[in-house]
Amino acid sequence: MKKLALCLTLALSLLWSANAWAATYIASPKPRVVVLDPGHGGPNRPGASKKGYLEKDINLKVSLMVRDMLAEKAPHITVYMTRSKDVELAADRTLDNRMRPKLANDKGADLFVSIHANDGSTTSSGFEAIVLNLDEKTQSHTKKMSPSLNAHKDYELFEDFKKDAAQYLDAISRLMSNDPMNRMFGRSVGEQVTKRGYRFSGVLDATKVYTVLYPLECPGIILEMGYMSNDKDLAYLTSEKGQKDMAAAISDGIISYFESVTLMEEYAENDTGTEDNFTEDDTLRYYVYDSSGEGYTIQLMSSNKELDIYHGSFKEFRGLAMLVMGTGTFKYKYCYGCYPTAAAAQSELAWARRSFKDAIVTRYKAGKIVSM
Ligand SMILES: [Zn+2]
Repeated sequence: MKKLALCLTLALSLLWSANAWAATYIASPKPRVVVLDPGHGGPNRPGASKKGYLEKDINLKVSLMVRDMLAEKAPHITVYMTRSKDVELAADRTLDNRMRPKLANDKGADLFVSIHANDGSTTSSGFEAIVLNLDEKTQSHTKKMSPSLNAHKDYELFEDFKKDAAQYLDAISRLMSNDPMNRMFGRSVGEQVTKRGYRFSGVLDATKVYTVLYPLECPGIILEMGYMSNDKDLAYLTSEKGQKDMAAAISDGIISYFESVTLMEEYAENDTGTEDNFTEDDTLRYYVYDSSGEGYTIQLMSSNKELDIYHGSFKEFRGLAMLVMGTGTFKYKYCYGCYPTAAAAQSELAWARRSFKDAIVTRYKAGKIVSM
C-alpha cells in the first residue's frame, strides 16, 4: 500500500508538468511495451459510419501510422497491435472487446491505447481522451468480475483473507494506481493534439464500464480522435494530413508520457525522504499536496459546504483537489497544487482555467488561505 501511495503522490505531483520535465530530461530511454488497439474491425463491426467512411478503417490507418512512427522515433518502445488488418478478434462482441485488454495483460504491456473516432451530434467536435472512472458502476463491476481476475500473490500471505476478497482488493487497488497515470497519458496526448491546432476537449470520465478497458492491468485509455458526425472533423480524420497529425500527436504523446514515467521511477529510486536532492529549479516545478506549510496554490472553486473531491463536479480535478480553509460564507476553498512562488502557480493557471474559468492563484499558510 505504501508503494501505491507513493506512486499516486508522484503521479499527482508530475501530472501537470510532464512537458517541462521532459524538456530537461536526458537519459537513455527504458524499454517499454505498448499495445495499440484500432477499435472495431471485420465485416460485422464497422464502428461509426458516415458518408461512406467507416470508423474501423480510420482507426486502423492511424494506428498503423502510430506504430510506424514509434518504430522510427522511439525504438525502445515495443508495439503490439490487437489487429493490423480489417478483422474482428472474436465472433462474440463482448469477447472481441475483452480480447483487446487481454493482449495487453498477456504481453505485460506498460500502456494500452484504444484508438477510435466518435459519433454524436453534427455540432460535437474535437479529440477526447476517455478514462475509466472509479465510480460505483466500476466498483460493482469489479466486484462482480473479481473471481475471474488474477489476484496478486501478496494477498496469499494473509491466511484469513478470502480469495475473492483478495481479488477484489487487488483489482480495486490496480484501478486506483492506474487512474492518475491514465489521466497523465490523456493529457500528454492532449497537449500534442492542441499543438497541432486541433481541438482537444479534455480527459473525460467514461460514463460506463467499457469492456475494452476492462480488466486491464496496465494504464490504458480510449482516444476518440474526433466526431465523424461533424463534417469538419470527418473531413480532417479522412484526410492524409489529419491522419498524419493524429498519429504524430498520439505517438509523441506516448513518448512524452513514458519520459515522465521514467522520471517518476528515477525519483522514487533516489528518494531519500527529504527534498534535499532538488535543485532550486526542480523545486519550482515540484509541488506536493501538503498545504500545511506556506506557499501558493490555485483555487479552483469555493463552497459554503464541504464537498466530496471525487465528485464529478471537480471535472478533471476529480480526486486531485484539496481543501484549504478560507473565511466567509464560502470558506471551503478547493485548490490544486502547492507552489513555492506565485509565478510557479501562475504558470499552471491556464490549465486549471480550462475546467474552472474563475480559478485564481492564492496564498496559503498552515492549511489556510491568507491574503496575497
Ligand atoms: Zn469506436
